[in-house]
Amino acid sequence: MIFRVAIPTPLYRLFDYRPPVYGPEAALPGCRVRVPFGRREAIGILVSLADSSEVPLDKLKPVLELLDARPVLTPDLFHLASWAARYYQHPIGDALQQALPVLLRQGQPDRFQHQTLWRAATTATMEQLSARAERQRELLALLLDHPQGISTDALRAEGGNPALLKTLAEKGLAVPFEHLPALPHADEQGSDILREPPLPLHDEQQAAVEALHQARGFTPILLEGVTGSGKTEVYLQAIQRCLEQGTQALVLVPEIGLTPQTITRFKARFRVPVLALHSGLTDRQRLDAWLWAREGSARILIGTRSAIFTPLRNPGLIIVDEEHDGSFKQQDGFRYHARDLAVFRAREYDIPVLLGSATPSLETLHNALSGRFHHLHLSRRAGNAKPPRFELLDIRQQQLDAGLSTPLLQRIHEHLARGTQVLLFLNRRGFSPALVCHDCGTPVDCTRCDARMTLHRKPPHLHCHHCDRQTPIPRQCAHCGSTQLRPAGNGTERIEERLADHFPHTPVLRVDRDSTQRKHALERIMTQVHSGAPCILVGTQMLAKGHHFPKVTLVAVLDADAGLFSADFRGMEKTAQLILQVAGRAGRADLPGEVLLQTFNADHPMLNTLVHTGYDAFAREELGLRRGGHLPPFAHHALIRAEAGQPALAENFLLSLRELADQQQLLPAGVQSIGPFPSLMEKRAGLFRAQLLLQSRQRSPLHQALAVLTGLMQAHPESRRVRWTLDVDPVDS
Ligand code: ADP
Ligand code: ZN
Ligand code: ZN
Repeated sequence: MIFRVAIPTPLYRLFDYRPPVYGPEAALPGCRVRVPFGRREAIGILVSLADSSEVPLDKLKPVLELLDARPVLTPDLFHLASWAARYYQHPIGDALQQALPVLLRQGQPDRFQHQTLWRAATTATMEQLSARAERQRELLALLLDHPQGISTDALRAEGGNPALLKTLAEKGLAVPFEHLPALPHADEQGSDILREPPLPLHDEQQAAVEALHQARGFTPILLEGVTGSGKTEVYLQAIQRCLEQGTQALVLVPEIGLTPQTITRFKARFRVPVLALHSGLTDRQRLDAWLWAREGSARILIGTRSAIFTPLRNPGLIIVDEEHDGSFKQQDGFRYHARDLAVFRAREYDIPVLLGSATPSLETLHNALSGRFHHLHLSRRAGNAKPPRFELLDIRQQQLDAGLSTPLLQRIHEHLARGTQVLLFLNRRGFSPALVCHDCGTPVDCTRCDARMTLHRKPPHLHCHHCDRQTPIPRQCAHCGSTQLRPAGNGTERIEERLADHFPHTPVLRVDRDSTQRKHALERIMTQVHSGAPCILVGTQMLAKGHHFPKVTLVAVLDADAGLFSADFRGMEKTAQLILQVAGRAGRADLPGEVLLQTFNADHPMLNTLVHTGYDAFAREELGLRRGGHLPPFAHHALIRAEAGQPALAENFLLSLRELADQQQLLPAGVQSIGPFPSLMEKRAGLFRAQLLLQSRQRSPLHQALAVLTGLMQAHPESRRVRWTLDVDPVDS
């Protein structure tokens, strides 16, 4: 037998091995093997067994060790990851690895870890130690404080000295024991599933929950509900049914959406194990969660993009909240889209999949309008909340103070005076997006990117937001030597500073990646907001999504024009989604909300459709334009991106690729290649980038074309100097 093994490398192929010398002749696909690979060893995944190999048998090396008795990658995950590898044209070895938690990739066993804990002996008392044995007494006191047991790490963290545990054990005062991690709330299972009663549903919610209850087998559903309409309540009641039937629910949320607030809402409702797969988990905790999901004891799993690869023993429902969110698409390496994989997975399991959003992606909307997906609506806000009132604030000929117009400042005053809160949105962190010479006009550019350096004041430095380069603030213009370098434009730091001047008696809370870097910083800000006292929130898209701020009555978008004239054909869609998500923070409870959009383009048709008619009307217009332009979702795209250390290299590489394909007529009919072009930001992090776009009405010829081109690129002599990647269904250009 030949073992055909997937190994994480950039190569699009499997590797053949003989069976282990001291081991079984065969194993099941999905088991891990340790194999020699070049001069090193690698952990690979067995994909299949074969009778023969193209490599002569005496050239094949044996597998060193079979790591699993049964497949660690369950058949469904194996299928999902290998399908995704084919669909996204990604090397199979890397794709299969990414479906595993880090510890399993490293070869650790797929078992819960027994941990040694310590506790005080039942007969132990402090009197048994002399007063002079101070360190031992401290340690014993800690043990007595933790009757359930404590690990050596935790002892050390609390100031104990674990080296003395042995001494205490010899005196019969301390006892070690083995401990398995316990699944949270596992002991409560079997009693009532509900911890709190569900809310009485309003009509539209009722209809949505009904529709979900009737769904049999694979049923993709778009739940289009305006912000504050109670989508989460629909999720909760759909999950309830799933729990009653003994199945598991997987909930995907955007990166910014996995807040303690969200997790609390699920935990508060159900008396079953709810596991959150967030970035704060250690590798060990992540593996434990994975194992609980696989054995079926974790009943609700909430996670961001990569949680789509969570194994499920009894899948019942998959939910993708804020399905339009860009964070569901992985932007490097294995460029999968978790929302699309969720639909694939639901089809394989033959279960419903619920995609929720106030501003659905045009792809999903198109699927719903063309009848491929069911389409449910929540058109009104839940409870007493009213939709916010929109206003386009024309700032042509207005005096702006760091981007704040006088009417806006006036409006902020009014709201604060009524004792409510205000939220200002600007998707630009830092003090100022550029530092410019007042004498010759030269801006300070990043040396590694085609981009300006952003000025930060807290602490003072320049920062490139594209490659992360940081430098001190220069004193002189590099071009003319002038010392008159001035900030140009506004970022959140500068707005924060100006607001503090205008409103000295009101707390100004900035929420962006810089202000929330420290642990618990965001939580502290949120606590202050939820206290309800008047305050001004200023922030980037971190503030835009998911949050429920009952006291916010005014939302202002400081620069509504930011995305209007983007070169990306998705620019308008993204702008509309962002504006409506931010606007959705206003007036979510009993107090009416209002939304101001500062714009230099108050008669822009898109802005007007959006604020006067709503997202649906906007999206239908936009879909019309896409159809006319033969753009997605009416055509399918794939991008070949290339980058190299010298100018022109990447573009020439793609050009020769295209010429080769054209000359030999390698591309199937219906596939157009467009480009190559330099990328929008040609130079980034020291690399020069270019891209070739492939477009087709049908998917299958597009995939054939990609397979051909991938082969050509691998064999291309320049492929040593040019790094290339594929992006199927790209969401940005
Ligand atoms: P969405 O996710 O659609 O933005 P949420 O699910 O966060 O909306 O609901 C917004 C607010 O409305 C929440 O405070 C929620 O508790 C409340 N809510 C939802 N459904 C109902 C209902 N049927 N009756 C009363 N309040 C509700
Ligand atoms: Zn100058
Ligand atoms: Zn840079």
